[in-house]
Amino acid sequence: MSKYIYICSANFSGSTLLDLLIGSHSRIESLGEISQLPKDLSLNALCTCGKQVKSCSVWIKVINIMSEKLGIDINKNPYFLNLGNIRTRVNTDVNNNSTFYTFKRKLKSAFRYSELSFGAPFLSSLITDVHKGIKNNFLLYEAVISVLGADAIVDSSKDYLKAVDLYKNAPEKVRIILLIRDGRAVFFSGLKRNFSYKKSLNSWKNLYTRALPLIRKHVAPEHVLQIRYEDLVNDIHYELAKICEFVGFHFEKEMIDFTRKTHHITAGNDIRFCKSSAIRKPDMLWKEKMTKEDLKYFEKKAGTLNQAFGYH
Ligand SMILES: [Zn+2]
Repeated sequence: MSKYIYICSANFSGSTLLDLLIGSHSRIESLGEISQLPKDLSLNALCTCGKQVKSCSVWIKVINIMSEKLGIDINKNPYFLNLGNIRTRVNTDVNNNSTFYTFKRKLKSAFRYSELSFGAPFLSSLITDVHKGIKNNFLLYEAVISVLGADAIVDSSKDYLKAVDLYKNAPEKVRIILLIRDGRAVFFSGLKRNFSYKKSLNSWKNLYTRALPLIRKHVAPEHVLQIRYEDLVNDIHYELAKICEFVGFHFEKEMIDFTRKTHHITAGNDIRFCKSSAIRKPDMLWKEKMTKEDLKYFEKKAGTLNQAFGYH
């Protein structure tokens, strides 16, 4: 039985939905994009239970445990947790997630990527806080497990470097779900938000072209499960049963209705606030709305990768 289930994916790929579904198991708790917790504490964001994070009884207890373990008041110094890369464009914490923060974050990610890809141990000394942050994630997972009396957690922070780092630190306990969605649908999601061609494509393409070799290099193949978003929403029962088997839990049919259980997620897609768990079928709007030019650009830059995932 694994204790820490991690969802690695590109943006707009259904990671919050998958997190909620797995976290609706009676023995597993959802954490959402827990890397964002420092920012959510700083901004006192809304928890999925309906309370703000600083008033949520679960997070109050978890933060007390973390403050005691780390010897620092986390409510006053949330960024000390350093749980992973923080998105700076969504609910921006202007005092902390500055341009300088983004620059530092990108630089450290580049160092860590080089270290994991090519083995450059001298870079390790430049990113000691990244390693400390990974240890803090485990402390936090354990705090949530003890407060909620669960056996396992699911973290959908998505970042592939964090996936590999977590696994390398606890290979016997970490299992990675690589969630994939048709790149054309993700590309279209970016275009709809008026992102450029390059930006719409790269957040999907870069994640998988970088994540796949690193995961192959560092993670045992039996500890990674590839799930396609479209397969999940077309047959939730089958895909969830497959996931349960992978992480060593018995499938519970109640998992399919993720609104039956109160979740305590502070960051993720707004689906976490939905009152109905009726899962929509995959959004195929891209097939109607994308122009020939859009599709041509996608196929030229990323068609081969998309086809390798079975999208034709
Ligand atoms: Zn809550």
